[in-house]
Amino acid sequence: MGEILSQVFVLPVRIALIATAIILILLWIVTIIWVNRDAKTRDAPATFWTIVAIIPVAGIVAYCLLRPPLTNADATEQDMSLELMSRQLAEYGNCPSCGQPVDKDYVVCPTCRTKLRNVCGRCKRPLEPHWVACPYCGAPTAKQNR
Ligand SMILES: [Zn+2]
Ligand SMILES: [Zn+2]
Repeated sequence: MGEILSQVFVLPVRIALIATAIILILLWIVTIIWVNRDAKTRDAPATFWTIVAIIPVAGIVAYCLLRPPLTNADATEQDMSLELMSRQLAEYGNCPSCGQPVDKDYVVCPTCRTKLRNVCGRCKRPLEPHWVACPYCGAPTAKQNR
């Protein structure tokens, strides 16, 4: 009876230990594969880092600390998104009255009806404040008339 009891108690413990070991081994393999792929995208020596990653825990920690910060592709992508953002900022401004974002060629703020820029008297296109003539139809602007 005592033998059966000890077997019943030991079996789940064994299964749990084996399951934990399998999970840890799978995680270890996944981290090795991840390091290999990540090193390749970062122009790091992939073979070297894969060998380092084989050292459990210490390998992956070392890689995370020492890997190159960004790939060339990532860096250019970041530059591009920054450029795009600054362009969008130039394209869209904020209404001086209510602070809502407004498009570059808005004539009136759609939120508070503040007049944002002059329009051409003839073709009704939006004009920059320093323009003395409408570039679309050639009509002189109010600035020239003044
Ligand atoms: Zn407004
Ligand atoms: Zn015009």
